Amino acid sequence: MPKLLSKSKLIAWRQCPRRLWLEVHNPELRADSAGAEARMEAGNELGRLAQRIYDPDGTGETIDAQKIGFGPALERSKAVLAEAKPVFEAGYAAGGGLAFADVMLPVGDKRPPDWRMVEVKSATSVKDYHREDAAIQAYIARAAGIPLRAIAVAHIDSSFVYPGDGDYDGLLAEKDLTAETTALSGEVAQWIDTAHEIAALAKEPDIRTGGHCSTPFACGFYHHCSASEPQPEYPIDWLPRLQKKDVKAFIETKSITDLRDVPDDLLNEIQLRVKKATLSGKPYFDHAGAARELKGQPMPACFLDFETVQFTIPVWKGTRPYQQLPFQFSLHKLAPDGSLAHHEFLDISGADPCAEFADTLISACEGRGPVYVYNVQFEAGRIRELGQRFPQKVRALDAIAMRMVDVLPIARRYYYHPDQHGSWSIKAVLPSMVPELDYDTLTGVKDGAMAAAAFLEAIRPDTTQERREQIRRELLEYCWLDTYALVRVWAYLAGFGPVRV
Ligand code: SF4
Repeated sequence: MPKLLSKSKLIAWRQCPRRLWLEVHNPELRADSAGAEARMEAGNELGRLAQRIYDPDGTGETIDAQKIGFGPALERSKAVLAEAKPVFEAGYAAGGGLAFADVMLPVGDKRPPDWRMVEVKSATSVKDYHREDAAIQAYIARAAGIPLRAIAVAHIDSSFVYPGDGDYDGLLAEKDLTAETTALSGEVAQWIDTAHEIAALAKEPDIRTGGHCSTPFACGFYHHCSASEPQPEYPIDWLPRLQKKDVKAFIETKSITDLRDVPDDLLNEIQLRVKKATLSGKPYFDHAGAARELKGQPMPACFLDFETVQFTIPVWKGTRPYQQLPFQFSLHKLAPDGSLAHHEFLDISGADPCAEFADTLISACEGRGPVYVYNVQFEAGRIRELGQRFPQKVRALDAIAMRMVDVLPIARRYYYHPDQHGSWSIKAVLPSMVPELDYDTLTGVKDGAMAAAAFLEAIRPDTTQERREQIRRELLEYCWLDTYALVRVWAYLAGFGPVRV
């Protein structure tokens, strides 16, 4: 059994004792999602930037435990902490725990100095699990004899607007947690003892999956744990939007996993429709209602979809952290005779694509008539932000937003097929409405997350020209299909005749 548990294992125990046990005994069973890996990479990038922010003169030292090994890293950290310069990734072990501090800054004139520790997080605010993380970090540091005068969490300030030229002054906002972490030290000692007891168990703890598997982090062992549990025939999460307090409380107190066990009188109209369609196997479609909502719209009609990317650390001047920045659109224009024209935009050069995106969009949307989208908040939000960034284009952009008609709520009100499993995403409704159209025929990018990841790969300087061209083709195919699928879903709901590509 390990004599020391790392901070990440202690945090795993805080989420779920079974997770800690698996991390210690069967780490090979963990399957982290692509999202978790991307978050880790973003965290590493932020860590590197934090070193520049906290050590602008470059006088500090970074301890690279991966490179030199844990033992030498702890030795080197001890030596460097006797000096008075910024230290990054300093390691220390005591009290049954092992931790590495993101940033250590010397305080005062004493030699060896007192220290201020800063933990750098890529979140936009301080969460409860950050407080526990900092408390564990501070406890182990003090147990190791490091004179810690203060501890803070530095998080992303979401209101930061990048002024360009590598100036990230103001990207991080600090919250001092010295008093809170000191007050928690007694509890942390108990956490570490209990975590060691769990790690020493001969058998995996018998803990079932539940809400804790995704809070505060999606657990990579979910597949392993759920595989040994009986699966409900009709999972409760097929019922959409179960936010009402009385329904949630009923489900939680009775540990309900199958939607058949929720009484009808607790469900709203749409949830009840889903339950009935699921149990009967029969789809619901109010043709007349859907057509009535859509038939008042004139022709020609545009069908629009955006692809966006987010950066933890903004790279384009005038943008904020995590801002959804559009780099691609596809637009189908449908004439009254059913013929379609296609317009598109894609920029994978790595330069800020937004101004040209806006100009091309304005020109593609020229004219009148509805601009159909699927989930209007997303496209309308991006248009509003483009208008804020480029005030000279705001009138033309607003005019597009005013023409937008959302197909999603119409599909939700008038259509449900049991195969949707509680989702009205376009990929969920398409197969039953237009079986011949299939996202699985795409060979590369198949959803928005993959599109953003592909874009990031394309703009990396080390991506080959050949791979970049492949990504370009995949992105264009995917976004084309997204708006063509929207045209066909709309035509199905509206009762519109054949569409010609
Ligand atoms: S999937 Fe859930 S039950 Fe299994 S280890 Fe993770 S948090 Fe625990």
